[in-house]
Amino acid sequence: MGVLKIKNTFKGIFILTIFFGGQILAQDSLATVKAETGDGILLLLRKQGLHPYDYFDEFVALNIENLRDSVHLYAGRTYKIPNAKLDTVPVVAEIQKQTTEIKKVVGKEYEIFGKKHSAVVSQSERLKGAVYYLVAGHGGPDPGAMAVYGGKSIAEDEYAYDITLRLAKELLSHGATVYIIIRDPNDGIRDERILKIDHDEVAYLDKVIPLNQVARLKQRVDIINQLHSKNRGKFQRLLVTHVDSRSVGQNIDVFFYHHKNSKNGKKLAESIHKTFHKKYKKYQPNRTYTGTFGDRTGLYMVRRTDPAMAYIEIGNIRNKKDQRRILDPDNRQALAKWISEGVILDFESGEIGRIR
Ligand SMILES: [Zn+2]
Repeated sequence: MGVLKIKNTFKGIFILTIFFGGQILAQDSLATVKAETGDGILLLLRKQGLHPYDYFDEFVALNIENLRDSVHLYAGRTYKIPNAKLDTVPVVAEIQKQTTEIKKVVGKEYEIFGKKHSAVVSQSERLKGAVYYLVAGHGGPDPGAMAVYGGKSIAEDEYAYDITLRLAKELLSHGATVYIIIRDPNDGIRDERILKIDHDEVAYLDKVIPLNQVARLKQRVDIINQLHSKNRGKFQRLLVTHVDSRSVGQNIDVFFYHHKNSKNGKKLAESIHKTFHKKYKKYQPNRTYTGTFGDRTGLYMVRRTDPAMAYIEIGNIRNKKDQRRILDPDNRQALAKWISEGVILDFESGEIGRIR
């Protein structure tokens, strides 16, 4: 009940913010705002006093005609702002940033997400009882695929890691148990376009990642399988994220793979795939989403890991079109959120057959 009271206290401030916002004009019942150069959806929502991640979907649905690639604003255009729902957790989450005292009541701190993003606010208990192992591709001495953007080097592992952290945070906020297998002690979630390359990632909890490829993969497989056996009897899933792709010449965003013999892995990959398909249909009525998943039994991670798993390739860091998508922190957040929704769909449809 303490939370309810806090909300009421801040209601006044919230309304004042909108009133004095200056840029906002009334149109129907929705406020509108003109996007400035450099604005992204998250920043725009934040400026309006809304918790950006919770209004992201609604914003996109309201403004789809004025968005490039479903997620990019055009500077100078006017956008509809969703009505704030004052009785929802998101508002509490936003308020929480203003007073550390309240933070203790509703958020739990995780250092791995970095100072700015460390607080995880509970959204639901929908993933209670589920255990997730999240692996960001590459890391340590291996940067994965590399490219140059605006004269600067960018590396796959940093972007895979950022998306993985964002995904971890989403899953935690729905009550899941999450193991972040590849970890960087000093890179939290980063809201920058160019993510600095470093080589200090470790494997759960603090193992140095070997340079040799087979040794590197074996290390993470062993860690996952040990944890999997420790958590025997629980609903467990593995998600591996990469930002490279072997597909060439297609306008395909995301690929999902699973082990051909794993019914639960197939269901997980399909659930995430379905969620992406739904999002693309909703946000891009004129563009068909053609990403698909297939068997990748050749992949070491898919073959040797015990938990049911999905292997996700989020575009290709070397592809110019994909770069635009991957470098935008708003997009990384949207991708993580969509994966998390697929993961929830998978969990809520239960386990096929015996628990692995
Ligand atoms: Zn990769």
